[in-house]
Amino acid sequence: MSSRRDFIRTVSAPVMVMPFLSESQIQTPVRFDVDGKVLRIALMGLGSYATRVAEAMRSCTRAKLTGIISGTPSKVADWKGKYNIAEKNCYNYESFDAIRNNPDIDAVYITTPNALHKEQAIRLARAGKHVICEKPMALNAIEGKEMIDACRKASVHLLVGYRLHFEAKTLEIIRMRNEGEFGQVLFFQGLSGFRIGNPSQWRLKKELAGGGAMMDIGIYSINGARYMIGEDPVWVTAQEVKTDPLKFGEGVDETITFQMGFPGGAIASCLSTYSMSNLDRFFLNGTKGFAELKPSTGYGPILGRTHKGELTQPHATHQTTQMDEMAAIILDGKKPMVPVDGEEGLKDLKIIDAIYKAVKTGQRIRIKLD
Ligand code: NDP
Repeated sequence: MSSRRDFIRTVSAPVMVMPFLSESQIQTPVRFDVDGKVLRIALMGLGSYATRVAEAMRSCTRAKLTGIISGTPSKVADWKGKYNIAEKNCYNYESFDAIRNNPDIDAVYITTPNALHKEQAIRLARAGKHVICEKPMALNAIEGKEMIDACRKASVHLLVGYRLHFEAKTLEIIRMRNEGEFGQVLFFQGLSGFRIGNPSQWRLKKELAGGGAMMDIGIYSINGARYMIGEDPVWVTAQEVKTDPLKFGEGVDETITFQMGFPGGAIASCLSTYSMSNLDRFFLNGTKGFAELKPSTGYGPILGRTHKGELTQPHATHQTTQMDEMAAIILDGKKPMVPVDGEEGLKDLKIIDAIYKAVKTGQRIRIKLD
């Protein structure tokens, strides 16, 4: 089997030149690709989530997998055959800047460990490609802002893989809230957690994950509180518990409970953990009614009910809907009901920064997201 280094040497760069978009074009429908109908996507980091996205994209009508970026030659060989990807659309982490010259790829979806997102996104922006990045968008707000600035400068979109922002039952609750069906929203509960296995995985390494459960799963309760309540928090408090300091080392949070206050008077009470399963539930309560999603963020089907009864919107594979909707955002300038842009990702990073600060100081931390 060839080594990573041999592979890097043998990957060749395509040759055609791709124009950058102007700053003003980004506001209007973007016609980045040749036929303007299908968004051609390369996946970067061929791990478990990329595999899920690639399989889901088989059913997409507006997004197509045309390229891959990987550090593992055997995966490249496998994926080329499985997804019919041309040799000239295959890159590794050293060669992918050459993607700027590849007219077969409009956007790159980053599905690598969290700590790699920022640098990879900035390089892709400089290569003139739209960036779709997995959550958490980066390790902290400073990094997130750098990504936004780089994408803005290159006039490319920066989207974050918030698949639940396109999920039908979730959107129905948001519609009901917008129409006042819950009355004044006063409370949200978010429970996000699972028991993490293999202690040597990157998710438990501070330098690759940027933290622990909060970066990986707790972020769902943060993001969920915002889209369920429909406001951004103005303060946070948080408490950390660690039962296994060997598995969850310095800077890797095992369990954090946190509370957020919202300008309209609502309070969110949330749990983020790597030590307990059966935690995937959102509950929203208002003066006139309630909504519950359980499961709320897993791959589905998402199940839910409100004071009016069961939610019956049909299940669709999240990543299929997400990729088609993201293609519409990039190609047609479509505005999603809940944003999935870099600013949205940055808000969650600012909240995570504040939660870690609250844990450290024991103080209530005020936050300003706009
Ligand atoms: P995996 O470990 O399964 O895959 C990550 C891939 O990144 C690897 O297979 C590898 O691919 C590549 N990689 C590059 N450098 C490294 C490195 N130093 N260490 C490990 N892998 C490396 O992770 P996931 O797919 O589960 O997660 C990837 C991202 O997706 C994370 O940011 C995570 O938070 C997010 N995610 C989002 C989900 C969602 O529902 N939205 C669900 C799961 C994850 P290669 O060999 O091709 O280089």
